[in-house]
Amino acid sequence: MKEIRMVDLKGQYEKIKPEIDAAIQEVIDSTAFINGPAVRTFQNELEKYLGVKHVIPCANGTDALQVAMMGLNLQPGDEVITTSFTFIATAEVIALLKLTPVLVDVQPDTFNIDPSAIRKAITSKTKAIVPVHLFGQCADMEEILKIAAEYNLYVIEDTCQAIGSDYMFSDGTIKKAGTMGDVAGMSFFPSKNLGCYGDGGAIFTNNDELSKRMLSVVNHGMTVRYYHDHIGVNSRLDSIQAAILRVKLKHLDDYIKARRAAADYYDKAFAGIPKLKTPFRTPYSMHVFHQYTLLTTGINRDELQQFLSSKNIPAMIYYPVPMHIQKAYQDPRYKEGDFPVTEHLSKSVISLPMHTELDEEQLKYITSAVIEFVNK
Ligand SMILES: *Cc1c(COP(=O)(O)O)cnc(C)c1O
Repeated sequence: MKEIRMVDLKGQYEKIKPEIDAAIQEVIDSTAFINGPAVRTFQNELEKYLGVKHVIPCANGTDALQVAMMGLNLQPGDEVITTSFTFIATAEVIALLKLTPVLVDVQPDTFNIDPSAIRKAITSKTKAIVPVHLFGQCADMEEILKIAAEYNLYVIEDTCQAIGSDYMFSDGTIKKAGTMGDVAGMSFFPSKNLGCYGDGGAIFTNNDELSKRMLSVVNHGMTVRYYHDHIGVNSRLDSIQAAILRVKLKHLDDYIKARRAAADYYDKAFAGIPKLKTPFRTPYSMHVFHQYTLLTTGINRDELQQFLSSKNIPAMIYYPVPMHIQKAYQDPRYKEGDFPVTEHLSKSVISLPMHTELDEEQLKYITSAVIEFVNK
C-alpha cells in the first residue's frame, strides 16, 4: 500500500509533472518573475471559472482578507462579526486593522457560522460579517445575505477552504463560493483545494469600484506610478505560482470529484455507527471536502488519533482551541462557556486523510482502523 498522507501533494504532482514542469520552465525562461503574463492569464481564467467580475491575485489568503477589509475602508472600532470556530487568520486581520472582532457560535451540524447568532450580535457599530466556508461547505449564505441587506452590512466570504463549491439559492440560482458576498478572500496554500507550490492568494469581487481600490491597496496604495493615494501593502502572486495554478485550475473539478468520492467511501463505511457522526451535507451547498471531519461521541478522540498514528494513519484536529480561548485573543468580553457548540466541537472532532489521490486500498485500511478502535 502507498504511504497514507494527510494531503498527498507528491502523488498529485507526479500525474501532472510534464505540464507543471513546462509551465515553471516557461516563466524562468521569460524571467518575468513578478506580474508576468501568467498572472494576468490565471486571473482571467479564474474569473471565468468562478463567474465573477474581478479576481485580484495577492500573496496569501491572510492578505486577501486584510486587503478586502482595507478596500472596504473599515475603520478602527468598526465591529466585524465572525465565527469562533475557524483558522486564526480570520480574526487576526480584524485585530491587526484595529477593528473589533465580534465572535459568534456555529451550527452543531454544519460547523459554520450560525445566522441566528449573527442577528443577536449586531449593534450600531457592526459593519461587516465574515462567514467562513469551513472544511469545504458554504455557510448559510442566503440567510446571511438577507441579514446583511437588512442591516446594511458588508459580507466578506472566507473562501480559503471552499473554492469550487456550488451554492444553490431557494430560487434555483447557483453561484460559486466566494462570489456571493461583497468580496471574498482565497488562499492557494499548497494543501488547499486549489494549491500552488508556495504561498498564494486572491480576492474576488463583482464590485468595480471596490476592485479598483483593492488593486491599489495590494500595490502600495498606488494608482499612478509613485503617486500613493492611501496606505497600502505589498502583496503579489508570483508568476511561477500563477503558472502552476493555471495548470491545476484545469484539474480542479476532477480534484473535487476525487475528494467527494473519498468522502462517499468514508460516509458509507461509517454509516450506522452512533459514535461517529459523518459530515452533514446541506441541501444548498456542494461539499468540496477540504477536510473530512468526523464528530465523535462517547470515545476518546485523542486516543483515536494516537491509535491511528500507531497504524501509520495521520489524522488531525481542526481546530483544538477556539478563538476566544487563544492566548493572544484573550478578551474581557468572552470567557470559556460562551460558545458551547464551538467548545464541544474543538474537543470532539477529528479529520481523516483527505486528498485527491486516496485509493480504495488506503480508504479500506483507514476506515477499518477507525472502526476497530470504536468497537474496542
Ligand atoms: C488557509 C486559511 C486562511 C489563510 O490562508 P494563508 O494563505 O495561509 O494565509 C484563512 N482562512 C482560512 C479559513 C484558511 O483555511
